[in-house]
Amino acid sequence: MEALNIRNGIIGNKTILGVEFISKIVNLSGRLRNVRTLRNRTDTIGITYHNTANTARGADALMHARYLQNVESSDKSYISFHFAVDSKRIVQVIPLNEVTWHAGDGRNGKGNCKTISIEICENADGNIRKAEENAQKLGAMLLETYGDIKIYKHQDFSGKYCPRVILNRNGWNEFVEGIYKIKDSLHIKKFATWEDELLEATKWAKVHKISDCERLDDNVTRKEVITMLFRMNNFLNK
Ligand SMILES: [Zn+2]
Repeated sequence: MEALNIRNGIIGNKTILGVEFISKIVNLSGRLRNVRTLRNRTDTIGITYHNTANTARGADALMHARYLQNVESSDKSYISFHFAVDSKRIVQVIPLNEVTWHAGDGRNGKGNCKTISIEICENADGNIRKAEENAQKLGAMLLETYGDIKIYKHQDFSGKYCPRVILNRNGWNEFVEGIYKIKDSLHIKKFATWEDELLEATKWAKVHKISDCERLDDNVTRKEVITMLFRMNNFLNK
């Protein structure tokens, strides 16, 4: 499995679980630091998910990266996020070690200061489910990287109805479960060939006394199946 390769808060991977990854870090511009906060983010308690609330077609992750650059240059509003994700790619816009204004819980709020922010593009090409899946993959890899952190929705910090597409279909719990499923699947051992897997399986069955693994090409009787199930049950309940 490809771990996230993070240097100075910027992910260096070309793909994240098969999804194209690009970094388009917003350049310092204007004078307000309203996007590039330059405030150190040292503690990570979780990841916060958002929907962009931009329903325009073509409003994809790269467009949101450009949008954020324009906001930084114009000194108008205080808003930022670490990642924008659409159905095709994941784009990083702010280094992970920098605070982003996304959670609406103030300059010292734990949503803003202690969580990683992910915007899911709502309607870049109509394939929001794919965008959500890509955002889940990013979340799973961040969980792998940061260890014991939580998954939050914007609503948890400021009450704002966000991520609204997921909330609209009452899908938040399912969305979070999906992230953990992806994370768990990363730890299922993969074998180059079936023979390799069989070798390990027979070792395991012998060690745990499920089967002696003799006569491996013989047919199995019902008596043997029942005995093996019984031993398996004992093993699981040990
Ligand atoms: Zn939000």
